[in-house]
Amino acid sequence: MLTVNAYAAPSATEPLVKTTIERRDVAAKDVLIEIKYSGICHSDIHTVRGEWGQIAYPQVVGHEIVGIVTEVGSEVSKHRVGDRVGVGCMVNSCRECESCLAGKENYCLKGNTGTYAAVDADGTLTQGGYSTHIVVVEDFVLNVPEAIPFEKAAPLLCAGVTTYSPLAHWKVGPGSRVAVVGMGGLGHMAVKIAHAMGAEVTVLSQSLSKMEDGLRLGADHYYATSDSSTFETLGSSFDLIINTVSASIDINSYLSLLAVDGTLVNVGAPTDPLPVQAFSLIGKRRSFAGSNIGSIAETQEMLDFCAEHGIAPETELVAADYINEAYERVLASDVRYRFVIDIATLV
Ligand code: NAP
Ligand code: ZN
Ligand code: ZN
Repeated sequence: MLTVNAYAAPSATEPLVKTTIERRDVAAKDVLIEIKYSGICHSDIHTVRGEWGQIAYPQVVGHEIVGIVTEVGSEVSKHRVGDRVGVGCMVNSCRECESCLAGKENYCLKGNTGTYAAVDADGTLTQGGYSTHIVVVEDFVLNVPEAIPFEKAAPLLCAGVTTYSPLAHWKVGPGSRVAVVGMGGLGHMAVKIAHAMGAEVTVLSQSLSKMEDGLRLGADHYYATSDSSTFETLGSSFDLIINTVSASIDINSYLSLLAVDGTLVNVGAPTDPLPVQAFSLIGKRRSFAGSNIGSIAETQEMLDFCAEHGIAPETELVAADYINEAYERVLASDVRYRFVIDIATLV
Protein backbone atom coordinates (compact mmCIF):
# COMPACT_ATOMS: atom_id res chain seq x y z
CA MET A 1 0.00 0.00 0.00
CA LEU A 2 1.07 3.53 -0.78
CA THR A 3 -0.06 6.40 1.47
CA VAL A 4 -0.57 9.54 -0.61
CA ASN A 5 -1.70 13.12 -0.09
CA ALA A 6 -5.21 13.99 -1.23
CA TYR A 7 -8.06 16.49 -0.85
CA ALA A 8 -11.23 14.84 0.43
CA ALA A 9 -14.81 15.74 1.28
CA PRO A 10 -15.45 14.74 4.94
CA SER A 11 -19.24 14.97 4.45
CA ALA A 12 -21.87 16.40 2.10
CA THR A 13 -21.88 19.76 3.84
CA GLU A 14 -18.28 20.44 4.90
CA PRO A 15 -15.49 21.93 2.77
CA LEU A 16 -12.89 19.58 1.29
CA VAL A 17 -9.77 19.16 3.45
CA LYS A 18 -6.21 17.94 2.96
CA THR A 19 -5.73 14.35 4.08
CA THR A 20 -4.00 11.10 3.14
CA ILE A 21 -5.44 7.99 1.46
CA GLU A 22 -4.14 4.53 0.61
CA ARG A 23 -3.48 3.34 -2.93
CA ARG A 24 -3.36 -0.41 -3.55
CA ASP A 25 -0.13 -2.23 -4.42
CA VAL A 26 0.59 -2.36 -8.14
CA ALA A 27 -0.83 -5.67 -9.42
CA ALA A 28 0.30 -7.46 -12.60
CA LYS A 29 -1.91 -5.42 -14.94
CA ASP A 30 -1.80 -2.12 -13.02
CA VAL A 31 0.06 1.10 -13.61
CA LEU A 32 1.03 3.58 -10.91
CA ILE A 33 0.59 7.17 -12.05
CA GLU A 34 2.13 10.23 -10.44
CA ILE A 35 -0.67 12.73 -10.99
CA LYS A 36 0.40 16.13 -12.34
CA TYR A 37 -2.92 17.87 -13.04
CA SER A 38 -6.52 17.17 -12.11
CA GLY A 39 -9.58 18.98 -13.51
CA ILE A 40 -12.61 20.06 -11.49
CA CYS A 41 -15.83 18.78 -13.09
CA HIS A 42 -19.31 19.84 -11.98
CA SER A 43 -19.97 16.10 -11.39
CA ASP A 44 -17.38 16.24 -8.57
CA ILE A 45 -19.58 18.82 -6.84
CA HIS A 46 -22.86 16.93 -7.47
CA THR A 47 -21.18 13.82 -6.01
CA VAL A 48 -19.55 15.17 -2.84
CA ARG A 49 -22.68 17.13 -1.94
CA GLY A 50 -24.80 13.98 -2.22
CA GLU A 51 -26.94 15.43 -5.01
CA TRP A 52 -26.91 12.13 -6.94
CA GLY A 53 -27.55 10.00 -3.85
CA GLN A 54 -25.75 9.16 -0.65
CA ILE A 55 -22.06 8.31 -0.84
CA ALA A 56 -19.44 7.10 1.64
CA TYR A 57 -17.07 9.65 3.21
CA PRO A 58 -14.32 10.68 3.27
CA GLN A 59 -14.44 10.87 -0.53
CA VAL A 60 -11.76 12.08 -2.92
CA VAL A 61 -13.23 13.10 -6.28
CA GLY A 62 -11.66 14.15 -9.59
CA HIS A 63 -11.95 12.22 -12.86
CA GLU A 64 -9.95 14.39 -15.22
CA ILE A 65 -6.47 13.14 -14.48
CA VAL A 66 -3.14 13.40 -16.27
CA GLY A 67 0.21 12.26 -14.98
CA ILE A 68 3.35 10.23 -15.56
CA VAL A 69 3.66 6.46 -15.22
CA THR A 70 6.13 5.68 -12.44
CA GLU A 71 5.67 1.92 -12.09
CA VAL A 72 4.07 -0.87 -14.13
CA GLY A 73 2.94 -4.38 -13.16
CA SER A 74 4.67 -7.47 -14.55
CA GLU A 75 2.04 -8.10 -17.26
CA VAL A 76 1.54 -4.50 -18.44
CA SER A 77 2.14 -4.06 -22.18
CA LYS A 78 0.33 -0.82 -23.09
CA HIS A 79 2.25 1.67 -20.97
CA ARG A 80 5.82 2.22 -19.87
CA VAL A 81 7.48 4.11 -17.04
CA GLY A 82 7.76 7.76 -18.11
CA ASP A 83 4.65 7.77 -20.36
CA ARG A 84 2.32 10.80 -20.35
CA VAL A 85 -1.05 9.27 -19.53
CA GLY A 86 -4.60 10.15 -18.60
CA VAL A 87 -7.45 8.62 -16.60
CA GLY A 88 -11.05 9.68 -17.08
CA CYS A 89 -14.36 8.84 -15.43
CA MET A 90 -14.01 5.06 -15.20
CA VAL A 91 -11.28 2.73 -13.99
CA ASN A 92 -12.84 -0.64 -14.84
CA SER A 93 -15.92 -2.44 -16.15
CA CYS A 94 -17.23 -6.01 -16.14
CA ARG A 95 -15.52 -6.81 -19.50
CA GLU A 96 -18.04 -9.56 -20.35
CA CYS A 97 -21.44 -7.93 -20.97
CA GLU A 98 -22.74 -7.05 -24.44
CA SER A 99 -21.66 -3.41 -24.07
CA CYS A 100 -18.16 -4.21 -22.81
CA LEU A 101 -17.61 -6.79 -25.56
CA ALA A 102 -18.69 -4.14 -28.08
CA GLY A 103 -16.11 -1.71 -26.67
CA LYS A 104 -18.72 0.48 -24.96
CA GLU A 105 -17.46 0.19 -21.40
CA ASN A 106 -19.18 3.47 -20.55
CA TYR A 107 -22.49 1.62 -21.06
CA CYS A 108 -21.43 -1.55 -19.17
CA LEU A 109 -24.66 -3.37 -18.31
CA LYS A 110 -23.38 -3.98 -14.79
CA GLY A 111 -22.34 -0.34 -14.46
CA ASN A 112 -18.77 0.74 -15.16
CA THR A 113 -16.50 1.31 -12.16
CA GLY A 114 -16.36 5.06 -11.61
CA THR A 115 -12.99 6.67 -10.85
CA TYR A 116 -14.47 7.76 -7.54
CA ALA A 117 -17.35 6.81 -5.23
CA ALA A 118 -17.62 3.33 -6.76
CA VAL A 119 -16.77 -0.14 -5.50
CA ASP A 120 -13.64 -1.47 -7.17
CA ALA A 121 -12.97 -5.10 -8.16
CA ASP A 122 -11.15 -5.64 -4.82
CA GLY A 123 -14.17 -4.36 -2.85
CA THR A 124 -12.61 -1.03 -1.89
CA LEU A 125 -14.09 2.40 -2.53
CA THR A 126 -12.56 4.18 -5.53
CA GLN A 127 -10.90 7.53 -4.79
CA GLY A 128 -10.31 10.09 -7.53
CA GLY A 129 -7.73 12.46 -8.89
CA TYR A 130 -7.42 15.18 -6.25
CA SER A 131 -4.41 13.22 -5.02
CA THR A 132 -0.75 12.74 -5.84
CA HIS A 133 -0.93 9.17 -7.18
CA ILE A 134 -3.44 6.65 -8.52
CA VAL A 135 -3.23 2.96 -9.40
CA VAL A 136 -5.31 1.94 -12.43
CA VAL A 137 -5.57 -1.22 -14.53
CA GLU A 138 -3.74 -0.57 -17.82
CA ASP A 139 -6.78 -0.93 -20.14
CA PHE A 140 -8.38 2.15 -18.57
CA VAL A 141 -5.31 4.36 -18.97
CA LEU A 142 -5.07 6.64 -22.03
CA ASN A 143 -2.07 8.03 -23.88
CA VAL A 144 -1.91 11.82 -23.88
CA PRO A 145 -0.29 13.04 -27.14
CA GLU A 146 2.76 15.32 -26.80
CA ALA A 147 1.01 17.99 -28.90
CA ILE A 148 -1.47 18.71 -26.08
CA PRO A 149 0.01 21.00 -23.37
CA PHE A 150 0.04 18.83 -20.24
CA GLU A 151 -1.33 21.49 -17.86
CA LYS A 152 -4.38 21.86 -20.13
CA ALA A 153 -4.94 18.20 -21.04
CA ALA A 154 -6.78 16.95 -17.94
CA PRO A 155 -10.28 18.32 -18.76
CA LEU A 156 -10.27 16.38 -22.02
CA LEU A 157 -10.64 13.17 -20.00
CA CYS A 158 -14.22 14.06 -19.01
CA ALA A 159 -15.41 17.36 -20.55
CA GLY A 160 -13.65 16.54 -23.84
CA VAL A 161 -14.92 13.02 -24.35
CA THR A 162 -18.41 13.69 -22.96
CA THR A 163 -18.98 16.24 -25.71
CA TYR A 164 -16.93 14.50 -28.44
CA SER A 165 -18.90 11.26 -28.05
CA PRO A 166 -22.40 12.58 -28.92
CA LEU A 167 -21.00 14.87 -31.63
CA ALA A 168 -19.34 11.84 -33.25
CA HIS A 169 -22.27 9.48 -32.62
CA TRP A 170 -24.76 11.87 -34.28
CA LYS A 171 -22.28 12.30 -37.14
CA VAL A 172 -21.69 16.03 -36.90
CA GLY A 173 -19.76 17.44 -39.85
CA PRO A 174 -19.86 20.22 -42.44
CA GLY A 175 -23.46 21.39 -42.86
CA SER A 176 -24.56 20.28 -39.35
CA ARG A 177 -26.33 22.98 -37.37
CA VAL A 178 -25.31 22.41 -33.74
CA ALA A 179 -26.39 24.34 -30.65
CA VAL A 180 -24.59 24.10 -27.32
CA VAL A 181 -26.59 25.01 -24.22
CA GLY A 182 -24.44 26.34 -21.34
CA MET A 183 -20.86 27.45 -21.89
CA GLY A 184 -19.03 26.03 -18.90
CA GLY A 185 -16.53 23.15 -18.79
CA LEU A 186 -18.40 20.78 -21.08
CA GLY A 187 -20.01 23.52 -23.16
CA HIS A 188 -16.80 25.26 -24.19
CA MET A 189 -15.33 21.92 -25.28
CA ALA A 190 -18.48 21.15 -27.29
CA VAL A 191 -18.02 24.49 -29.09
CA LYS A 192 -14.38 23.80 -29.93
CA ILE A 193 -14.92 20.21 -31.04
CA ALA A 194 -18.10 20.84 -33.07
CA HIS A 195 -16.34 23.73 -34.82
CA ALA A 196 -13.34 21.50 -35.62
CA MET A 197 -15.73 18.89 -37.03
CA GLY A 198 -16.99 21.53 -39.47
CA ALA A 199 -20.40 22.30 -37.93
CA GLU A 200 -22.15 25.67 -37.78
CA VAL A 201 -22.13 26.26 -34.02
CA THR A 202 -24.52 28.35 -31.91
CA VAL A 203 -24.08 28.95 -28.17
CA LEU A 204 -27.19 29.33 -26.02
CA SER A 205 -26.00 30.89 -22.78
CA GLN A 206 -27.91 32.55 -19.95
CA SER A 207 -26.50 35.95 -20.93
CA LEU A 208 -24.24 37.54 -23.53
CA SER A 209 -21.42 38.06 -20.99
CA LYS A 210 -19.21 35.34 -22.53
CA MET A 211 -20.11 36.09 -26.18
CA GLU A 212 -16.65 37.34 -27.18
CA ASP A 213 -15.07 34.16 -25.80
CA GLY A 214 -17.67 31.94 -27.47
CA LEU A 215 -16.99 33.44 -30.89
CA ARG A 216 -13.22 33.19 -30.34
CA LEU A 217 -13.53 29.51 -29.35
CA GLY A 218 -15.31 28.66 -32.60
CA ALA A 219 -19.00 29.57 -32.31
CA ASP A 220 -20.63 31.20 -35.33
CA HIS A 221 -23.57 32.61 -33.34
CA TYR A 222 -24.26 33.40 -29.69
CA TYR A 223 -27.65 34.02 -28.06
CA ALA A 224 -28.90 34.76 -24.56
CA THR A 225 -31.61 32.40 -23.32
CA SER A 226 -32.76 35.08 -20.84
CA ASP A 227 -34.07 36.94 -23.90
CA SER A 228 -37.35 35.24 -24.87
CA SER A 229 -37.07 36.43 -28.48
CA THR A 230 -34.13 33.97 -28.84
CA PHE A 231 -36.60 31.08 -28.82
CA GLU A 232 -38.75 32.69 -31.55
CA THR A 233 -35.76 33.62 -33.72
CA LEU A 234 -34.19 30.15 -33.57
CA GLY A 235 -37.33 27.96 -33.74
CA SER A 236 -36.89 24.62 -35.61
CA SER A 237 -33.36 25.48 -36.73
CA PHE A 238 -30.92 22.93 -35.27
CA ASP A 239 -30.03 19.36 -36.22
CA LEU A 240 -28.39 18.65 -32.87
CA ILE A 241 -28.53 20.38 -29.50
CA ILE A 242 -26.08 19.42 -26.75
CA ASN A 243 -27.47 20.43 -23.35
CA THR A 244 -24.65 20.75 -20.81
CA VAL A 245 -26.60 22.59 -18.11
CA SER A 246 -26.13 21.26 -14.57
CA ALA A 247 -29.57 22.47 -13.44
CA SER A 248 -33.07 21.58 -14.58
CA ILE A 249 -34.20 23.90 -17.42
CA ASP A 250 -37.46 24.16 -19.39
CA ILE A 251 -36.48 21.47 -21.86
CA ASN A 252 -39.60 21.96 -24.01
CA SER A 253 -38.40 25.46 -25.01
CA TYR A 254 -35.12 23.95 -26.19
CA LEU A 255 -36.84 21.06 -28.01
CA SER A 256 -38.78 23.69 -29.99
CA LEU A 257 -35.44 24.78 -31.48
CA LEU A 258 -34.89 21.40 -33.19
CA ALA A 259 -35.52 21.01 -36.92
CA VAL A 260 -37.48 18.02 -38.29
CA ASP A 261 -35.66 14.82 -37.21
CA GLY A 262 -33.39 16.82 -34.90
CA THR A 263 -32.04 15.47 -31.61
CA LEU A 264 -31.46 17.12 -28.25
CA VAL A 265 -28.79 15.21 -26.33
CA ASN A 266 -28.71 15.77 -22.60
CA VAL A 267 -25.28 15.45 -21.06
CA GLY A 268 -26.04 17.75 -18.12
CA ALA A 269 -27.05 15.67 -15.10
CA PRO A 270 -29.31 17.72 -12.80
CA THR A 271 -30.96 16.11 -9.80
CA ASP A 272 -34.42 17.39 -10.72
CA PRO A 273 -36.40 15.85 -13.62
CA LEU A 274 -36.64 17.43 -17.08
CA PRO A 275 -40.35 16.97 -17.92
CA VAL A 276 -40.98 16.57 -21.67
CA GLN A 277 -44.32 17.29 -23.36
CA ALA A 278 -45.18 14.75 -26.08
CA PHE A 279 -46.10 17.58 -28.46
CA SER A 280 -42.55 18.96 -28.17
CA LEU A 281 -41.40 15.81 -29.99
CA ILE A 282 -44.13 14.38 -32.22
CA GLY A 283 -44.90 17.34 -34.49
CA LYS A 284 -41.40 17.29 -36.00
CA ARG A 285 -40.24 13.72 -35.23
CA ARG A 286 -37.72 15.09 -32.75
CA SER A 287 -35.66 12.94 -30.37
CA PHE A 288 -34.66 13.58 -26.77
CA ALA A 289 -31.53 11.58 -25.93
CA GLY A 290 -28.82 11.22 -23.31
CA SER A 291 -25.13 10.36 -23.49
CA ASN A 292 -22.69 9.12 -20.84
CA ILE A 293 -18.98 10.08 -21.10
CA GLY A 294 -17.32 7.94 -23.83
CA SER A 295 -15.70 4.54 -24.27
CA ILE A 296 -11.97 4.03 -23.81
CA ALA A 297 -11.46 3.77 -27.59
CA GLU A 298 -13.49 6.95 -28.14
CA THR A 299 -11.50 8.75 -25.44
CA GLN A 300 -8.23 7.91 -27.21
CA GLU A 301 -9.81 8.93 -30.54
CA MET A 302 -10.84 12.28 -28.98
CA LEU A 303 -7.33 12.87 -27.56
CA ASP A 304 -5.80 12.19 -30.98
CA PHE A 305 -8.43 14.41 -32.67
CA CYS A 306 -7.62 17.28 -30.28
CA ALA A 307 -3.88 16.85 -30.86
CA GLU A 308 -4.40 16.87 -34.62
CA HIS A 309 -6.66 19.96 -34.55
CA GLY A 310 -4.68 21.90 -31.94
CA ILE A 311 -7.59 21.81 -29.48
CA ALA A 312 -7.04 22.25 -25.75
CA PRO A 313 -9.41 23.39 -23.00
CA GLU A 314 -9.36 26.97 -21.64
CA THR A 315 -8.14 26.47 -18.10
CA GLU A 316 -7.43 28.29 -14.86
CA LEU A 317 -4.64 26.56 -12.95
CA VAL A 318 -5.21 26.62 -9.19
CA ALA A 319 -3.52 25.35 -6.05
CA ALA A 320 -5.14 22.51 -4.10
CA ASP A 321 -6.12 24.85 -1.27
CA TYR A 322 -8.29 26.80 -3.76
CA ILE A 323 -10.63 23.83 -4.47
CA ASN A 324 -13.47 25.00 -2.19
CA GLU A 325 -13.40 28.50 -3.69
CA ALA A 326 -13.28 27.00 -7.18
CA TYR A 327 -16.44 24.99 -6.36
CA GLU A 328 -18.27 28.20 -5.42
CA ARG A 329 -17.17 29.82 -8.66
CA VAL A 330 -18.32 26.81 -10.73
CA LEU A 331 -21.72 26.97 -9.00
CA ALA A 332 -21.94 30.69 -9.84
CA SER A 333 -21.14 29.95 -13.56
CA ASP A 334 -17.94 31.94 -12.94
CA VAL A 335 -15.54 29.46 -14.54
CA ARG A 336 -13.38 30.30 -17.59
CA TYR A 337 -13.75 27.49 -18.52
CA ARG A 338 -12.27 24.69 -16.40
CA PHE A 339 -10.38 24.78 -13.12
CA VAL A 340 -7.33 22.52 -13.10
CA ILE A 341 -5.55 21.67 -9.85
CA ASP A 342 -1.76 21.81 -9.98
CA ILE A 343 -1.02 18.63 -8.01
CA ALA A 344 2.50 19.89 -7.24
CA THR A 345 0.73 22.02 -4.60
CA LEU A 346 -0.48 18.85 -2.87
CA VAL A 347 2.87 17.08 -2.60
P1 NAP B 1 -20.23 23.85 -15.51
O1 NAP B 1 -18.81 24.15 -15.87
O2 NAP B 1 -20.79 24.37 -14.24
O3 NAP B 1 -21.13 24.33 -16.76
C1 NAP B 1 -22.52 24.32 -16.74
C2 NAP B 1 -23.03 25.56 -17.46
O4 NAP B 1 -24.45 25.50 -17.49
C3 NAP B 1 -22.72 26.88 -16.76
O5 NAP B 1 -21.46 27.38 -17.10
C4 NAP B 1 -23.82 27.76 -17.29
O6 NAP B 1 -23.49 28.22 -18.59
C5 NAP B 1 -24.99 26.81 -17.43
N1 NAP B 1 -25.91 26.88 -16.26
C6 NAP B 1 -25.60 26.63 -14.96
N2 NAP B 1 -26.70 26.78 -14.19
C7 NAP B 1 -27.72 27.13 -15.02
C8 NAP B 1 -29.10 27.40 -14.83
N3 NAP B 1 -29.66 27.36 -13.61
N4 NAP B 1 -29.85 27.70 -15.92
C9 NAP B 1 -29.30 27.74 -17.14
N5 NAP B 1 -27.99 27.49 -17.38
C10 NAP B 1 -27.22 27.20 -16.34
O7 NAP B 1 -20.47 22.28 -15.45
P2 NAP B 1 -19.80 21.10 -16.32
O8 NAP B 1 -18.64 20.56 -15.56
O9 NAP B 1 -19.66 21.54 -17.70
O10 NAP B 1 -20.94 19.98 -16.20
C11 NAP B 1 -22.24 20.24 -16.71
C12 NAP B 1 -23.19 19.12 -16.33
O11 NAP B 1 -22.82 17.94 -17.06
C13 NAP B 1 -23.17 18.72 -14.85
O12 NAP B 1 -24.50 18.40 -14.46
C14 NAP B 1 -22.30 17.48 -14.85
O13 NAP B 1 -22.56 16.62 -13.76
C15 NAP B 1 -22.73 16.86 -16.14
N6 NAP B 1 -21.77 15.87 -16.70
C16 NAP B 1 -22.31 14.83 -17.37
C17 NAP B 1 -21.49 13.91 -17.99
C18 NAP B 1 -22.07 12.78 -18.80
O14 NAP B 1 -21.38 11.82 -19.05
N7 NAP B 1 -23.30 12.89 -19.25
C19 NAP B 1 -20.09 14.05 -17.90
C20 NAP B 1 -19.59 15.16 -17.22
C21 NAP B 1 -20.44 16.07 -16.63
P3 NAP B 1 -23.85 29.71 -19.08
O15 NAP B 1 -23.20 30.61 -18.08
O16 NAP B 1 -23.23 29.76 -20.44
O17 NAP B 1 -25.34 29.83 -19.14
ZN1 ZN C 1 -16.86 14.90 -15.26
ZN1 ZN D 1 -19.83 -4.76 -18.87
